[in-house]
Amino acid sequence: MHELSIMDSAMNMALAQAREAGATRIHEIRLRVGALSGVVPEALQFAFEALAPGTLAESAKLRMDSVPARFWCEACQAEFAADDFLAACPHCQTISRHLRAGRELELASLEIE
Ligand SMILES: [Zn+2]
Repeated sequence: MHELSIMDSAMNMALAQAREAGATRIHEIRLRVGALSGVVPEALQFAFEALAPGTLAESAKLRMDSVPARFWCEACQAEFAADDFLAACPHCQTISRHLRAGRELELASLEIE
C-alpha cells in the first residue's frame, strides 16, 4: 500500500522531531496533503492507526490539511487553482502543464508534550 510507506516516513520524521524536542507524547500530527498527491486520506488514517501503537504517537490525532493544486498559465502570466491534472485556465481556457503546488505531502507541524 502506497499510503503505508508515506505514513511510515512521515511518522519517522514526527517521532524524530518529538524525540529531539524531548517530548514524552505526541498529541497531534498535522500533514499537508496536496489535492493531486494521489493519497487517499482514509488510507493514510488507516496506516497511521497501524503504525502508531507503541510509539510516542500512540494517542495522537492525525490531521490532514488539504492543499489545493495551483497551475501557472503562460498566456495570462497568472496562477490559478484547480483540482484536476488536466486544468484549463479560467481566463483563456488553455490547458496548463505547469503545476506549481498540489502534489506535496509533508509534515506540517506537531503538537507535543
Ligand atoms: Zn490563461
